[in-house]
Amino acid sequence: MSDQFDVVVIGGGPAGYPAAIRAAQNGLKVACIDEWRNLDGSYAFGGTCLNAGCIPSKALLESSELYYRAQHEFAVHGIRLGDVGLDLAAMQKRRAAIVRAMTTGILALFKSNGVTGIQGHGRYLGAGQVEVTAADGTQRILTAKDVVIASGSVPVRLESVPHDGRSIVDSWNALEFAAVPRRLGIIGAGVIGLELGSVWRRLGSEVVMLEAMEQFLPMADGAIAREALRSFRKLGLDIRLGAKVSGATVTAAGVDVAYVDAKGEQALQVDQLIVAVGRRPFTQGLLADGTGVELDRRGTIVVDDHCRTAVPHVWAVGDVVRGPMLAHKGKEEGVMVADLIAGRYAEVNYKVIPSVIYTAPEIAWVGQTEEQVKASGVAYKVGSFPFAASGRARAMEAAAGQVRIIAASDSDEILGVHVIGPMAGELIGEAVLAMEYSASTEDLQRTIHAHPTLSEALHEAALAADKRAIDSLNR
Ligand code: FAD
Ligand code: NAD
Repeated sequence: MSDQFDVVVIGGGPAGYPAAIRAAQNGLKVACIDEWRNLDGSYAFGGTCLNAGCIPSKALLESSELYYRAQHEFAVHGIRLGDVGLDLAAMQKRRAAIVRAMTTGILALFKSNGVTGIQGHGRYLGAGQVEVTAADGTQRILTAKDVVIASGSVPVRLESVPHDGRSIVDSWNALEFAAVPRRLGIIGAGVIGLELGSVWRRLGSEVVMLEAMEQFLPMADGAIAREALRSFRKLGLDIRLGAKVSGATVTAAGVDVAYVDAKGEQALQVDQLIVAVGRRPFTQGLLADGTGVELDRRGTIVVDDHCRTAVPHVWAVGDVVRGPMLAHKGKEEGVMVADLIAGRYAEVNYKVIPSVIYTAPEIAWVGQTEEQVKASGVAYKVGSFPFAASGRARAMEAAAGQVRIIAASDSDEILGVHVIGPMAGELIGEAVLAMEYSASTEDLQRTIHAHPTLSEALHEAALAADKRAIDSLNR
């Protein structure tokens, strides 16, 4: 096999594999190198997202929600069940099977697009050369006109909370628990903490979450974050804000956690402790000395708006560069870079990247929060609509939550859309499209939404921005 390529992509996660596929679709000769090894030692493409992130977490969120609803909600529908039992092994088997199907799917996509997938460690040597080290230690050098770095991120570890993979774990370990912890501690009430906390709470754990910040979900719209906190506490997540962890020790009985809050020093005993305090860019063993690829203080590869590094023909995309650590953001960057390499026009609209937290109620948003718009000094109006007034949401027994639309008072342009409630992650798609086209609330007001659907809540929120909602009180 020739080791000369037009493009070599280092990393086969959701930023790297789409870059490789699009580059091949553009007629280029492409290799994609990935070193991901699963806990059983097997190689797999797909990176964090497919193997240990988005996909397995959503599989468990779905299963655990069904379990919870069967116990707490079916009776309201008039469905009587006997004892609802949990078969965690079967649930985990399903999760693993979904992951396997998705990751092997990438191999099929590579084959049909003509991408050469290579499993091993990639190191950029400079001057268009990439060294690949296979599992058995054998090495080869690939040459390419363009190199795309998509090496992703890894969990942040806390020195005073030493990870052991059994009692003190990261999100990957916590997706593969073989038994439901009786008492589960989680450090960090961010996206991972909330999603994993929801899974294990619904399956029966007592969950305590220690969050250092006083403010809950500061990146979300304030009204949505306040409603979310109330809902999660109702589910039984014991979320303690302003709780600064000073250390944790594994004992015969579990894990002793020490933290400080407004009342002073506190102690917490749990059976297992998840550390979910963010992720950091991963560049270990990635760059030979003197390549000229620049990293900032956090270890993030420095790139411009088009993901160009400081070195011509070396690009970087996904979690290893600035911006939100989201699979769809990385995917768009990978595709953009592959098109730019082929001489096509390409752009990522960083102002319109949706965020979704897949809890129940689900949370999703795009654009600016009310607090951000207020701080910018732009005069604005807000339209909101509660799912309690949505016939479809009521029929689904999912009437908690609301849609909020924030728009400029003068131009009527939509500046942000925030949803907490059923299928928020699906509903936000319409808002993303609207904002991509710089839509106004009037555009949404004049768009016909099928009845009865959840999407009518977006329509009514747009009407409410002008105090013209039909199905709510226009407060
Ligand atoms: P990664 O997915 O980390 O992939 C990088 C790949 O490069 C890995 O396979 C790695 O092994 C490989 N690699 C690194 N260095 C080298 C090297 N030198 N040589 C060869 N290979 C190398 N995001 C969402 O948008 N939605 C979600 O629902 C969501 N849920 C998540 C849930 C969890 C529990 C976690 C942890 C994350 C979640 N994320 C989610 C975030 C998402 O997983 C990341 O944003 C995404 O995976 C980043 O893609 P990436 O390709 O940049 O990096
Ligand atoms: P995060 O940044 O969402 O949350 C980390 C939380 O930990 C923050 O609230 C932070 O204040 C807190 N924290 C930090 N240090 C602490 C300490 N010492 N003690 C107590 N609390 C502390 O990070 P995450 O939840 O680890 O997720 C990592 C990344 O993965 C995020 O950037 C997210 O975008 C991505 N992700 C996305 C999804 C999704 O899109 N649904 C799901 C999971 C993960």
